[in-house]
Amino acid sequence: MPAQLIDGAAVASRLRQTIRQRVSTLSAQHGRAPGLAVILVGQDPASQVYVRNKGKATLEVGMHSIEHHLDASTSETELLNLVARLNNDPLVDGILVQLPLPRHIDSQRVLLAIDPNKDVDGFHPINAGRLMTGQEGLVPCTPSGCMLLLKEALTSPAGMHAVVVGRSNIVGKPVAQLLLQADCTVTIAHSRTNDLPAMCRSADILIAAVGKPEMIRGDWIKPGAIVIDVGINRIDTAEGKTKLVGDVATQEALPHALAITPVPGGVGPMTIACLLNNTLTAFERHQRQ
Ligand code: NDP
Repeated sequence: MPAQLIDGAAVASRLRQTIRQRVSTLSAQHGRAPGLAVILVGQDPASQVYVRNKGKATLEVGMHSIEHHLDASTSETELLNLVARLNNDPLVDGILVQLPLPRHIDSQRVLLAIDPNKDVDGFHPINAGRLMTGQEGLVPCTPSGCMLLLKEALTSPAGMHAVVVGRSNIVGKPVAQLLLQADCTVTIAHSRTNDLPAMCRSADILIAAVGKPEMIRGDWIKPGAIVIDVGINRIDTAEGKTKLVGDVATQEALPHALAITPVPGGVGPMTIACLLNNTLTAFERHQRQ
């Protein structure tokens, strides 16, 4: 039987609906809506699209959207001053600095300057540490989205062997931590892993976060595995157009897997929905302080 396709767009839409209802209740209760501030420096076209989509999604769930579009020549000090102002602004619950930043700005220094309780991307080392030690924090959005999609295919992943291919700070490492918290036995694979196909074949749950188009072939998938494909790769087609593919050769994987996320329409739509969820969480904690 071919694999179930996990519909990320539908799951994300349900999550946004739940957030919208909660925002409506909380806004009435506290006299203001949660606020998300997004800072974009420069004119990178892909970043402009992301920021526009984030702003639209924020307004759609009833949150307050604040956008700062800064010139590419903005100095690091000016950017740090803006982050400090937003940290101290009681109407701002979440702060997101769109990456990549221009080369003259030290991204790490800027991310470190964000108040960890407003760090809705979950990239601050304080939040990474909270995740690692099982404390309440803000969890990176794409890994949270992967876990919600996994729930669509499984009641509990406890005891399963999860293989995460990729060890970045924004996807691979945090998703591995979340799988560990969910009682999986976790292996993290990377570019230096020996015999990656054999490693993948041992996975009951396979998370692909590599950034290499269709690198993971169908016969690398254990029969009955759940596959979450985080990769987003644009490739040229024979017709002279381009299309998006994941890190997994989906068509080949379909006869092997129990369930798989498609690209596009799998993990992608979850990321912004989880960002809104983090903003709501930050707002709720802010109200409790
Ligand atoms: P990075 O480039 O930061 O990390 C890629 C990881 O893949 C590294 O750990 C690298 O290993 C590993 N890798 C590279 N080549 C191989 C190989 N041949 N075999 C095994 N492992 C390999 O990428 P990200 O984590 O930021 O992103 C991964 C993918 O997910 C990309 O396609 C990106 O576009 C997508 N993405 C999608 C999002 C969404 O919203 N759906 C959000 C974020 C990312 P090593 O450490 O050894 O170099």
